[in-house]
Amino acid sequence: MVARKTLRLAPLASPRARAAELNRLLKTNAYKYYALDAPEVTDAEFDCWLHELKALEAAHPELVTPDSYTQRVGGFISEQFEPVRHAQRMYSIDDAMNLEELDEWLARTDEALGSTPEHPVAYTCELKIDGLGVALTYTNGEFECAATRGDGTTGENVTANVLTIKDIPHALAAAGASRVKDGGLGQSVEVRGEVYMPKRSFVRLNEEADAAGRTPFANPRNAAAGSLRQKDPKVTAVRDLETFIYSVADEAPLDVSSQWQFLQWLRDCGFNVNPNASRCTSAAEVHDFCANALAHRDDLDYDIDGVVVKVDSFASQAALGFTARAPRWAIAFKFPPEEKRTVLRDIRIQVGRTGVLTPVAEFDPVLVAGSTIARATLHNIDEIRRKNVRVGDTIVVHKAGDVIPEVVGPVLELRPEGAVEFQMPAACPSCGSPVIREEGEVAYRCVSIDCPAQATERLIHWGSRNAMDIDGLGDELVGRMVEQGLLTDVADFYDRLTEGAFADVSTGRQSVDGDDIVVGKVIAKKVMAQVGESKGRGLSRVLFGLGIRHVGANVAGLLAKHFGSMQALMTATEEDIAAIDGVGPKIAASVREFFCVEKNVAVVERLREAGVVLEEEQAEPERPQTLAGLTFVLTGTLEKYNRTDAGNQLKALGAKVAGSVSKKTSYVVAGEAAGSKLTKAQSLGVPVLDEAALDVILTTGNLPEGASV
Ligand code: NAD
Repeated sequence: MVARKTLRLAPLASPRARAAELNRLLKTNAYKYYALDAPEVTDAEFDCWLHELKALEAAHPELVTPDSYTQRVGGFISEQFEPVRHAQRMYSIDDAMNLEELDEWLARTDEALGSTPEHPVAYTCELKIDGLGVALTYTNGEFECAATRGDGTTGENVTANVLTIKDIPHALAAAGASRVKDGGLGQSVEVRGEVYMPKRSFVRLNEEADAAGRTPFANPRNAAAGSLRQKDPKVTAVRDLETFIYSVADEAPLDVSSQWQFLQWLRDCGFNVNPNASRCTSAAEVHDFCANALAHRDDLDYDIDGVVVKVDSFASQAALGFTARAPRWAIAFKFPPEEKRTVLRDIRIQVGRTGVLTPVAEFDPVLVAGSTIARATLHNIDEIRRKNVRVGDTIVVHKAGDVIPEVVGPVLELRPEGAVEFQMPAACPSCGSPVIREEGEVAYRCVSIDCPAQATERLIHWGSRNAMDIDGLGDELVGRMVEQGLLTDVADFYDRLTEGAFADVSTGRQSVDGDDIVVGKVIAKKVMAQVGESKGRGLSRVLFGLGIRHVGANVAGLLAKHFGSMQALMTATEEDIAAIDGVGPKIAASVREFFCVEKNVAVVERLREAGVVLEEEQAEPERPQTLAGLTFVLTGTLEKYNRTDAGNQLKALGAKVAGSVSKKTSYVVAGEAAGSKLTKAQSLGVPVLDEAALDVILTTGNLPEGASV
């Protein structure tokens, strides 16, 4: 058994004591999960506790208290967001942990709804997206506000953050809006769905966190929640979030009568709706859908943790109603977690490009979720202590978010005698320099700037896809070239490396005669052609590729766009850099620090001499920021402009564009049939502009005469 301390207490405790213990565990861990976005136990463990508590309460109904975890919707409302009371409660969904539980629910529901072979109950099966539930309100067809689920009754106002998610329509498309009662006018429609982080973005975000010595997110769900629940929407904007919308708070204003029709309505409105759904009329069809979803889970670029089965007819849903925490008309069939046992053979220290020492677990290879894994990062010493793993342990491994290999914990009963606690080394395993742990940081770092392991990682990073994208340059090849002294810094690619040099690099394999096989001419030619091509990638890629601490791909883009050339950036002051929107003092200090090191400046000079482009092509000449500091709200139908385009043009002039009217709004632009936002602007005394005034602003870049703040 994995080190699940509390489960071992179960047989000894009385039902009352055990229920109290389970409630305590559920509540503390729900806090870590929902409030801190940093769970310390797996979802499977959490679900096990919840199931045990439900079973205990079913056997001892006197143990059910109003504040039991079984009676509430898990969630948390942070004080950093304005609370929003949901018009209709947002519920959780009851789980079926296996096919038997799913079948019991189907049979119960069929019976309650009087299913017959001639008129079977229809169910809509959808993928259960592992993200963060949100509610989006549209009034008069326009996006107004967004809230998290919170405790189900009250959520957090995350409107500004949600506005940065590109796939959310700012207005309902006409094909859907026309199917809302009265053409949508005067109506408020609250749709609900999941904000998620694609697996590829989750992997990238965690790689960046590891490189920077930050604690990574446990899974894409927590990464999505942590990215959406940010104080600064600019952080959300660069986190690459996407949505799938799947439900509605109240279907009354819509001309749809089933979940299946509703999904089509959502598509007509312009929402992202998951294409993998099916309308089933038998348990066998539901089983097929679940089996298919499980089989193709690894092919999806987003994490799913099960299938949601919903009674299709809205009238039947209403007849079944809700329990205290979940609808009776839906069930979540949860996929079994794929966990395997293996033996931890070693904990090896990897030195990253910024000098961070990362302990990596090396274990006997095992097949998990479609691929063989043999190592997993343990992130840092605190994590090793928390997981309590030792070399020699039999360990349980799985893939976090279905993608990242992770050590879940040791099987304590099988711990070999004499297994010792792991200690971080006092010296860098690559160069022997002292290792330090800065105050307040979890990471240990090698402080040498000549460390060959750091050099190798920097060179690998330079050639990586989001940096200079040098195809054919594998990690191993770079390592061997560093070992042989062919490469020491990134400028060597351009002014030292030759095609001929590859003839001396071993591939690590041997011929039948026992001779070393060296890198072939074809590969050498290909890599050198790629190196040549990479010269023209532009400043933002170069800046990211240099691996300056705290400069990720996004910040590199901001710096390149702002300064336009390496020269301008290198001569800028720390204050100039910190003043850029989205940059700030910590990054600015790190950039300055980088260019204060002579060696770094010399590398940049050699890159320039070798013909690497150190300028950024400016996409479009930036318009003067005449509207900086002003906030606009667009409402109603505009004749000449589409609202999203008009909003983007206002933003290009420096304005902010908000989804709802408040005292902070500078101007409301009202088109035809403007509704509640116009009324609110009038009641707050916010100046209102018509389309002609908007036209003047967008063509001249200036406010029309007479318009003032
Ligand atoms: P849930 O995630 O099991 O299911 C309900 C949610 O599923 C809905 O609120 C909705 O947001 C989402 N969903 C995704 N796709 C959907 C679709 N197509 N249709 C309808 N809903 C869809 O329930 P929950 O109460 O949100 O959270 C419980 C989950 O969180 C469990 O998996 C639990 O393990 C995990 N959790 C883990 C910890 C931990 O410490 N590891 C702590 C708390 C909760």
